[in-house]
Amino acid sequence: MAEDARQLRDSVESTTVVVIGAGPAGMTVANLLRGSGVDCVVLESRSRAYVSQRQRAGIVETRAVRMFDDWGLADRVLGGVPYDGILEFRVDGDRHLVSDSDGSNGPAARLCPQQILVQKLTAAYLEDGGDLRFEAADVSLHDLAGDRPTVRYRSVDGALRAITCDFVAGCDGDHGVSRTAVPDGALTAYALDHGIGWLTILADAPPPAHPLLAVSPQGFAAHFPRGPHASRYYLQCPPDDHPDAWTDTRVWDALRTRLGDQALTSGPITEREIFRLRSLVHDPMQYGRLFLVGDAAHIVSPMGGKGMNLALYDADVFARAVRDFVRGGDDTGLRTYSSRCLRRVWNDQEFSHWLTRTLHDAGDATDAGPFHRHLARARLDRLFTSPGAARAFADLMTGLDPTGDPVTQDVLGNLSGPGGG
Ligand SMILES: Cc1cc2nc3c(=O)[nH]c(=O)nc-3n(C[C@H](O)[C@H](O)[C@H](O)COP(=O)(O)OP(=O)(O)OC[C@H]3O[C@@H](n4cnc5c(N)ncnc54)[C@H](O)[C@@H]3O)c2cc1C
Repeated sequence: MAEDARQLRDSVESTTVVVIGAGPAGMTVANLLRGSGVDCVVLESRSRAYVSQRQRAGIVETRAVRMFDDWGLADRVLGGVPYDGILEFRVDGDRHLVSDSDGSNGPAARLCPQQILVQKLTAAYLEDGGDLRFEAADVSLHDLAGDRPTVRYRSVDGALRAITCDFVAGCDGDHGVSRTAVPDGALTAYALDHGIGWLTILADAPPPAHPLLAVSPQGFAAHFPRGPHASRYYLQCPPDDHPDAWTDTRVWDALRTRLGDQALTSGPITEREIFRLRSLVHDPMQYGRLFLVGDAAHIVSPMGGKGMNLALYDADVFARAVRDFVRGGDDTGLRTYSSRCLRRVWNDQEFSHWLTRTLHDAGDATDAGPFHRHLARARLDRLFTSPGAARAFADLMTGLDPTGDPVTQDVLGNLSGPGGG
C-alpha cells in the first residue's frame, strides 16, 4: 500500500481530456481533439489486438461520413467500400428495394465494418503522436464535481498511475466504469426490453447484393455484408433461447426459409450468440466534468444501424464543445452537450423502435396478435409505395433528417469547417 501511494505521488500527470475507452466513440473523440490541438490521453482496458478485432456495426451512415469529411479525416479513417444506398426488404419471399439515398450532394454512407473503422482511427491517432495506453487496469474516476478531476489506473507494468485533467470523456460502453462513478440519483435511466431475442451469426459466406431485412411467418431474419467474404445474419428467436440449440444445419435451414432463398450459400460459422433486444437512455449524459459518449450513455436496439453512428455523433458534439472552450473560453457547447445529444438519441431510438416493431410484428413469431400484424404490414406497404414515406425513411437512415441541430446543419451545408474555429 505504501509503495502504491509513493508511486501514485510520483507519477501524477496532467492533460486536458482523459478519454476512457478506445472503441468508435473514444477513438473519434481522441482524433478530433488532436485535430483541434487539444491534449488528451486515452485509457483502454483491453489489448490493441482485442479492440481491433471486435466485429459489430457495418455501416457508417451518410451524416457520419460527412462529419469525418468535414474534419479532414474521411480518407484516413474510413475503410470499406461506398454503399449504394439500396436496402432490400423481403416480405414472404417478395423483393422490395428501398433507396436510402436522400439525393443531397456530398459523400454518402460506407460499408465499413466497425473493427476497420476502429483500426484506422487508432492508426491515425498514433501516427499523429497521440497518447493511447492499452491494458490500463482498475481505472477509477475521482473529483468529477470539482475543477480538476483525476483518473487513476494501473499500467501494464503494474504501477499505479494518476492523471489530472479538465474533462473526462466516458467512452467505455455500457459495462464500463465511467457511468458507475456518477452518484446514485444523478442520472435517470429509461430502459425498454423489447421481449425479442436475436441469434446473431458471423460466417465466412458471401455477402448479399444489398443489406437485406426479411419478414416471414417463421419470424424476422437479416443478412448484412461484413467485408468481401464475410456476412452477419440475424434470426429472431425467443430471448431466453440457447445458442447450442442452433446447430449449423438448423441455422442454414432457418435462414433459407425466412430469407426465401433456397440457394443461399453457407460457410463456416465463426460467431454464434443470442442477445435480447433492448434500448436504454441515461439522462443527462453529463455529471460535473464527466461527459458520457456513445454506448456509455445509450443503447439502441440494432434495427436501423444507429448505435455506432450515435456514438460518432456524440463524439463530434463533445470535441467541438471542448475545442470552443479551450480556444476561446466559450462554454456553450459544454453546457448544452447533453440536451443536444439527447435530442438525436431519442430521434434515433424512435426510428429504431418503429423499425423493430414493424419487422417483428409483421411475422407470426411475436405475440403482437393479428391486429398489430396488419398494422405492421400496412406500414411496410406504405414504405414501398409512397414517395413521401420512402423519403422520410431515407432521411432517417442517412442520419440527415433535419432535426434543426446546428451540428447537422454544419455538416449538411459545410458552413464552417470545425478545424477553422
Ligand atoms: C451484435 C451487435 C451488432 C451491432 N450492429 C450495429 C450496427 O449494425 N450499426 C450500428 O450503428 N451499431 C451496431 N451495434 C452497436 C455498436 O456496436 C455500438 O453502439 C458501438 O460499439 C458503440 O461504441 P462505443 O465506443 O460507445 O462503445 P464500445 O464499442 O463498447 O467501446 C467501449 C470501449 O471501452 C473499453 N472499456 C470498457 N471498460 C473499460 C474500462 N473500465 N477502462 C477502460 N476501457 C474500458 C472497451 O474495451 C471498449 O474498447 C451493434 C452492437 C452489437 C453488440
